[in-house]
Amino acid sequence: MSDLILFWHRRDLRISDNIGLSAARQKSPKIVGIFCLDPNILNKDDVAPARVTYLIGCLQELQQQYQQAGSQLLILRGEPSQAIPRLAATLKASAVFWNLDVEPYAKNRDEQVINVLQEKGIARENFWDQLLHAPGQLVTQSKDYYKVFTPFWRNWSKLKKQSPLQKLEGLKGLTEEELTLTINAGVIDLPTAKKLGYAWENPLLLDPGETAAKKRLEEFCSSAINEYQEQRNFPAVDGTSRLSAALKFGAIGIRTVWKATLEVYENSRSDEARKSIETWQQELAWREFYQHCMYFFPELAEGSYRKDFRSFPWQNNEDYFQAWCEGKTGYPIVDAAMRQLNETAWMHNRCRMIVASFLTKDLIINWQWGEKYFMQKLYDGDLSANNGGWQWSASSGMDPKPLRIFNPASQAQKFDPEGEYIRQWLPELRSVDTEFLISGKIPSLERYQCGYPEPIVDHKKRQAEFKLLFQEVRGK
Ligand SMILES: Cc1cc2nc3c(=O)[nH]c(=O)nc-3n(C[C@H](O)[C@H](O)[C@H](O)COP(=O)(O)OP(=O)(O)OC[C@H]3O[C@@H](n4cnc5c(N)ncnc54)[C@H](O)[C@@H]3O)c2cc1C
Repeated sequence: MSDLILFWHRRDLRISDNIGLSAARQKSPKIVGIFCLDPNILNKDDVAPARVTYLIGCLQELQQQYQQAGSQLLILRGEPSQAIPRLAATLKASAVFWNLDVEPYAKNRDEQVINVLQEKGIARENFWDQLLHAPGQLVTQSKDYYKVFTPFWRNWSKLKKQSPLQKLEGLKGLTEEELTLTINAGVIDLPTAKKLGYAWENPLLLDPGETAAKKRLEEFCSSAINEYQEQRNFPAVDGTSRLSAALKFGAIGIRTVWKATLEVYENSRSDEARKSIETWQQELAWREFYQHCMYFFPELAEGSYRKDFRSFPWQNNEDYFQAWCEGKTGYPIVDAAMRQLNETAWMHNRCRMIVASFLTKDLIINWQWGEKYFMQKLYDGDLSANNGGWQWSASSGMDPKPLRIFNPASQAQKFDPEGEYIRQWLPELRSVDTEFLISGKIPSLERYQCGYPEPIVDHKKRQAEFKLLFQEVRGK
């Protein structure tokens, strides 16, 4: 065995503030990164082209980071349980290190990799990196796992958080001879997203990689975070961090993000700003809450958490679904949001809640259809957060609060009062009077002239229908 450690990157696409990587560095300077393009993930039918584009961009930067630090990032393509042990055995690596994940597929895949490594006599070490508090670190007073956010947050916010870790420097990479061996062990050049079959031509909301993520964090912490409490619900305003994809892929370390919030909190001069910073910290806790839930309740990924909801009589009208996907429901705020999603691969959180409520409560379509469509489009698509958001919106999840139905008109009146967001994404309605836009009461003739559809359903009637179905299901 050599002194070589392979570090398998998954959702931690950076060499700074990386717990597993720092632990590897303490054992040996000869660390080589690997990333495995896994067909089990890439061949699924819920992969967003924009997400793959972001991922490949992050890997490009990670390759440069390794090079600058004196080593390499190798790319594999294939079944991880075969590809990774094979490379480790070829290079006679002493160990493979990686950071753990909460998703059911990842847990299962890691078990398989561990088994094959063991058969080959190769050591491995695992760490928690992507969360400030790993699953199991927080339990309720009765030693149970949290199913409700507020008590989770109370406990989570009190726990001490780790500081960011150093960026890795002075690594030793593979020799020319070893690099030649890697070719026979399946190492390939980093393909483009297009080559993988995922073309995304529109600009990404945030450039891939750590440099862009750190810059955005800095920008956000120097201004918008101080007004987050007030501005975060207005989709026309650039009032949120837009760091979701960077956090999903670990282009930025969560400890680095947390430390930035503490610094801005310490330097803030008003109670209002401090409240805003706390509210943003709470969003990071939501992210962790949903990941803990997915870790302990993997059945969430399969369907409704609430048993009574599993037999809900969804109507699943395909034409309605198509209209929702294309942003042609005749409800301006819903359509604007869906067009934002289709064009930018991102949607503002307020609008995610509005369109999810509309799909489930107005169109009476199974929330899993929406969950999948989001995954097919979002560049920040993440199983835990997306599933959590959808189950919250559908009232099928853990949160006991029974029924939330968003009225598209009152949501638009409250959060897009000037119709700015609607006009941005529905150019055909640009000249329509604001009052009509936000109330959704656009006269038929004007709709016709603008080429904009009539509402496909009547909100009032449909929410009443949903309520009846909901009561029936609960009654059973
Ligand atoms: C139906 C639905 C689906 C969603 N799908 C996803 C998804 O696939 N991926 C995803 O990252 N978020 C998802 N969210 C949560 C939220 O909408 C996004 O995280 C947020 O809009 C991203 O923008 P931002 O980075 O500017 O967020 P900010 O407001 O700046 O929040 C900071 C970070 O906190 C985390 N966060 C914020 N809100 C939530 C939340 N409700 N749940 C979990 N984490 C949160 C994200 O990592 C986010 O980047 C979903 C929400 C809903 C209602």
